[in-house]
Amino acid sequence: MSNLQVLGRTNFAQLNWFEQWWAAWYLWIRDPTIATGLMSFLMHEIVYFGRCIPWIIIDSMPYFRQWKLQPDKVPTRAEQWECTKYVLFSHFTIELPAIWFFHPIAELFGLSTWQVPFPSWKEFVPQVIFFFFFEDAFHYFAHQLLHYGPFYKHIHKLHHKYSAPFGLAAEFAHPIEVFILGTGTLAGPFLYVAIFKQLHIATVYVWVILRLCQAIDAHSGYDFPWSLQHIFPLWSGADHHDFHHMAFVNNYSTSFRYLDYLFGTDNKYRAYKEKLATEKNVTDQVTFKKKLEEEVEKEGVRAEAEAESGKWGCESSAGWWGAKKKSE
Ligand SMILES: [Zn+2]
Ligand SMILES: [Zn+2]
Repeated sequence: MSNLQVLGRTNFAQLNWFEQWWAAWYLWIRDPTIATGLMSFLMHEIVYFGRCIPWIIIDSMPYFRQWKLQPDKVPTRAEQWECTKYVLFSHFTIELPAIWFFHPIAELFGLSTWQVPFPSWKEFVPQVIFFFFFEDAFHYFAHQLLHYGPFYKHIHKLHHKYSAPFGLAAEFAHPIEVFILGTGTLAGPFLYVAIFKQLHIATVYVWVILRLCQAIDAHSGYDFPWSLQHIFPLWSGADHHDFHHMAFVNNYSTSFRYLDYLFGTDNKYRAYKEKLATEKNVTDQVTFKKKLEEEVEKEGVRAEAEAESGKWGCESSAGWWGAKKKSE
């Protein structure tokens, strides 16, 4: 019996709304490779741009400037449009063709795709947590490699175009970078299913949606009192990654802060935060913060030039390695 015949015999009355929709989609498209590919692409576009819209609105409202990490650097309409065009171009020319391999690779590793019902939350929550930690560690080391001379110059420099990032800039990156860092997002699920033999692609979608939101929020440029890192201190958030763009060095991980803390690659960030904390004792707080930001950025420009010169082991070109070398 073919997969479609098995699916066609499903008792739809026993499924929840989402599972019914899922089964109907695969039955309607008939070709599982196209069904998975199309759904993955649409999901990516809807989540990516959907999550960016609130940040575009927030950027257009001066009221929110009080929580902007670099308040003098609000993206212009032209910058946002230029970034959108590049991201769309990259989605359609690189990700769309690549996405057609997703279903065959998923099946090869043994992921459930068209099957319903979905796993229970007790099953998928620990899996998603594992993917978060796996990706964070992968990203931490791969990102530092991208800061090494030739890799930085020819690949990662594009992503660092914005010293004050905004939501849309999350995927503003060279295709090779998209591939390298995307590996960290998908290698976790593939590794998991290779070991435990049980994983549904719907769980991978939940993970990818959360990861997309994390990446966009980390680039948003805003730190609100209600931002996740104030509730869950292990979380990186925009405050952590905005500093990476401003200072060029430090804060290489994505979701969590602990690796940068453990390896000492957040030393400059923490020194900056300490200085910033003395702000309340200063009369002109705006000028004080601006001066501090300028200093960090100036240092960042110097560090970027040093990284581009390709000296492996200099502090700016390799965070963890550089920090280690310095302490020796
Ligand atoms: Zn970087
Ligand atoms: Zn970034």
